Amino acid sequence: MTLTGKMLIGQQSLSGNREAIRAINPATHAALEPAYLGGNSEHVAHACALAWTAFDTYRETSLEARATFLETIGTQIEALGDELIDRAVAETGLPRARIQGERGRTCGQLRTFARTVRAGEWLDVRVDTAQPERQPLPRPDLRQRHIALGPVAVFGASNFPLAFSVAGGDTASALAAGCPVVVKAHGAHPGTSELVGRAVAQAVKACGLPEGVFSLLYGSGREVGIALVTDPRIKAVGFTGSRAGGIALTQAAQARPEPIPVYAEMSSINPVYLFPAALEARAEALAQGFVASLTQGAGQFCTNPGLVIAIQGAALDRFTRTISEHLPGCAAQTMLTPGIHSAYDEGVRALSKHARVAATGQAAEGPNQGQAHVFVTQAQDFLSNAHLQAEVFGSASLMVACADADEVRRVSEHLEGQLTATLHLDAADLASAKALLPVLERKAGRLLVNGWPTGVEVSDAMVHGGPFPATSDSRSTSVGTAAIYRFLRPVCYQDFPDALLPGALQHGNPLLLRRLLDGQREA
Ligand code: NAP
Repeated sequence: MTLTGKMLIGQQSLSGNREAIRAINPATHAALEPAYLGGNSEHVAHACALAWTAFDTYRETSLEARATFLETIGTQIEALGDELIDRAVAETGLPRARIQGERGRTCGQLRTFARTVRAGEWLDVRVDTAQPERQPLPRPDLRQRHIALGPVAVFGASNFPLAFSVAGGDTASALAAGCPVVVKAHGAHPGTSELVGRAVAQAVKACGLPEGVFSLLYGSGREVGIALVTDPRIKAVGFTGSRAGGIALTQAAQARPEPIPVYAEMSSINPVYLFPAALEARAEALAQGFVASLTQGAGQFCTNPGLVIAIQGAALDRFTRTISEHLPGCAAQTMLTPGIHSAYDEGVRALSKHARVAATGQAAEGPNQGQAHVFVTQAQDFLSNAHLQAEVFGSASLMVACADADEVRRVSEHLEGQLTATLHLDAADLASAKALLPVLERKAGRLLVNGWPTGVEVSDAMVHGGPFPATSDSRSTSVGTAAIYRFLRPVCYQDFPDALLPGALQHGNPLLLRRLLDGQREA
């Protein structure tokens, strides 16, 4: 497929007229063709008008039709073959195997949402049948289902060009809920975005859906992004990126005459706890596992282990020594963009001023090479220095040595909201872990034992969320099938005649849903 450099507004390809966005191969600094002229507020209005026109039709498509649409997107993405992989590798510097894996995850995610849509549990049908004889007042017939919120704006992420971008988790869950989607492509991978965008548009056409179900825009966040978030036809926003970007979009959404929810996933340092018995039993193996997790994908994961917390002593010294033996063997890796690379270098420089360097990975000469760093500090310094809590996006982590369990608790209480908290423990650590658990539950969206936080399963029970600044709304997840609930709201129908009720709520239950009927869950 020849890349056109154009936006996709419904089924139409249109050129922008603002400053051109051009992908840069971060491994070579070479500019990639074609240029993508940025859109303006008129393009945003056009896409939102189409999305609004499509909304009522799309949200009432049958469960089967919507599930088939999601599966068709997956098939269309796979049909792009190596062209998609080649382009994504060139635009991100990520290894080929990683991009292939991410394509599998993206298509698998779409199919998982298709299964969710078909099952219909998300409609959350509740029926309280009428009780005309009830005293002192009769009860009306009440029926509740969930409907789609409206058109959703999705901001593609820099660090997942497929799984968190044009047809990634936010788009898949919004489309599953019945919401048309308008994507603002991330400027770092416009060609990958165009290829995937065309696959989605092709699926819209093949499934006979209204064209406004999907549009793809290019342009600056400050113009196109803000115009999108403030367009009155947009009813929710999905975002993955920086804390500053997420806050700016949330504030713009809150300042609208009609404020809307923004689901922004922003900043997390993902504390890892090494409990004493586990550390004593396997300090060396833990250190090796930590180095592997820290350096995976140049550390450019929102779940990268950016903080290690343990009680000081000989076992922690063994852990640190093993890191200093293994980290120097880790090659520098190409980071996603010059901006992310320079932000990483700046973050490392800031940490260097406030903490001691325990070990570094290999340095490299080429462009955008991220060198891994592990720092060490004492709990008292961590508690009194805000610089030590900031996310450094990349392979950098800080070890915090605590005097005792009380200090571990104080450090934990001091943390901001997190996507994950990891506990490495043995049987003898269970009591201290249990004591810390209430704090960690307040702080993080996912708690894991004897594993590493990088690697996020797409499943029904997954939570990829957490209190601010991990996300802007801790009540939801951006990964896994529960992500669909971000884009739904309940509607109750009182004393409706059967002929006027949506199929999900009709008396004969034609969709065969497991309803909550007069307080009992149907089998
Ligand atoms: P970003 O700068 O937040 O950009 C993400 C998207 O938001 C882009 O489309 C951007 O548009 C838009 N945007 C940013 N600021 C905006 C504003 N003030 N108003 C309107 N739109 C705005 O994130 P990034 O480019 O992916 O990476 C930068 C940094 O984000 C990284 O160094 C890292 O610290 C962090 N990051 C964190 C995660 C995570 O999961 N925690 C993931 C990725 C990145 P424009 O680019 O066109 O302005």
